Amino acid sequence: MLTCKDVCDNATRHIEGQSGLWDRIGLRFHLLICKECRRFMRQFRMMIGTSAKLNDLDQPTDKEIDELVTRLVSSQD
Ligand SMILES: [Zn+2]
Repeated sequence: MLTCKDVCDNATRHIEGQSGLWDRIGLRFHLLICKECRRFMRQFRMMIGTSAKLNDLDQPTDKEIDELVTRLVSSQD
């Protein structure tokens, strides 16, 4: 069974779809029983999405940065 540390250590691989079948099943099972890792994975996905979005912007405005930070902070509940 995966531990919380396993989930954190392999988060990038999981999100990028590079995990094998048994790793993906193990992750799903762990996320079913672990609220902290569900929150971590949700925030990690959002963080990756945010950084990809920032990379698409040549020079993000303060308003765009504020909106992204607000989305990240509001996802912590
Ligand atoms: Zn966990």
